[in-house]
Amino acid sequence: MSSDKSLQTRLIHSDYRAPAGFDAFPQAIHHASTVLFSNVAALRSRNWQDKTGYTYGLHGTPTTFTLEARLAAIEQGTHCLLAPSGLAAIAMVDLALLKTGDDVLLPDNVYNPSRELGNWLSRDFGISARYYDPMVGAGIAALMQPNTRLVWTEAPGSVSMEVPDIPAICKAAHDAGAVVAIDNTWSAGIAFAAFDHGVDIAMQALTKYQSGGSDVLMGAVITRDESLHRRIEAAHMRLGYGVGADDAYLVLRSLPTMKLRFEAHDRGAREVAAWLQARPEIAQVLHPAFDACPGHAHWKRDFTGAGGLFSVIFDERYSEAQTDRFIDTLKLFKIGYSWGGANSLCVPYRMQGMRQGWESHGQLLRFNIGLEEPADLIADMAQAFEALARR
Ligand SMILES: *Cc1c(COP(=O)(O)O)cnc(C)c1O
Repeated sequence: MSSDKSLQTRLIHSDYRAPAGFDAFPQAIHHASTVLFSNVAALRSRNWQDKTGYTYGLHGTPTTFTLEARLAAIEQGTHCLLAPSGLAAIAMVDLALLKTGDDVLLPDNVYNPSRELGNWLSRDFGISARYYDPMVGAGIAALMQPNTRLVWTEAPGSVSMEVPDIPAICKAAHDAGAVVAIDNTWSAGIAFAAFDHGVDIAMQALTKYQSGGSDVLMGAVITRDESLHRRIEAAHMRLGYGVGADDAYLVLRSLPTMKLRFEAHDRGAREVAAWLQARPEIAQVLHPAFDACPGHAHWKRDFTGAGGLFSVIFDERYSEAQTDRFIDTLKLFKIGYSWGGANSLCVPYRMQGMRQGWESHGQLLRFNIGLEEPADLIADMAQAFEALARR
């Protein structure tokens, strides 16, 4: 920039461009709202949906395009859209595929904020959201209505952990002309090949294993079908969903270790769950890899792993106050929502009111088994059981 311009202008405009050709393993973090065009013709001819170029920060940068492509590949899909949280990704699917007069089916054990959203769509938007028994399988055919456009599945269901018969649900839904979406967060897209089992749309809360750091909120919607992708992409654009470049980078940085972390969570969780199963205080271990978990046979048939999240039901003789004290006595297990990070967590859930017809009266606790040494986690639980017995 010639020195006839003022310093103020020269602070903004510079002729310098770093040389092209720099290469390294990490994807560069591109911060951009405005994307520059070389001339007006280039701006006029640019189509925002064409991912061979860039239009505006909201439609993608090299950082977010790279993350989308890598997530699509993990899930064995072809298209991916990022959302600012897992819940935002769920909302994007609902708003892309549903309009006034339509019907959506959700499993009764669905991630609870998704149920909140379904109830809101029912109350204020003229869309009916109905809830089905997650173990209904092929029986979902009887629930399909001519206006049922979308069937949500979750495998296993949040908190109560039933593993549904996904291929049977997909077949019945497709026969009735509906699209099937799965909240595939539990398997991270590693342990369950959603598209191979008939699902049309896979949603991930990247907040969990893809981040792995308990430090990012992000979601993704992955498809294998161009026309479905276009519908969801239109919702993505209309809703103005952007994700921060630094957050996208944090997820990219964690992906190379995701499978190793997932397998370590899986080993630890099975070790802790097996130990809990032998405890007299525990009535039932709700871990998909264990016989006592509803839908265990579906898990065995359709899944290749498990991850770190499972629940247990205490014997009915323990009150809520007692199991609350049990949690408070744990030292390595921290108390808090979410999962998929290195730290073990424990959260109690009140199932009455969360699930229709929930029969067990024992207290339900959900564990995220982190990456600590399982023997240390077991010792921590053992001291909390001892404290429970003393009072
Ligand atoms: C955490 C979670 C979500 C939502 O993800 P956020 O990023 O917290 O909005 C959705 N579904 C399941 C199964 C989850 O565990």
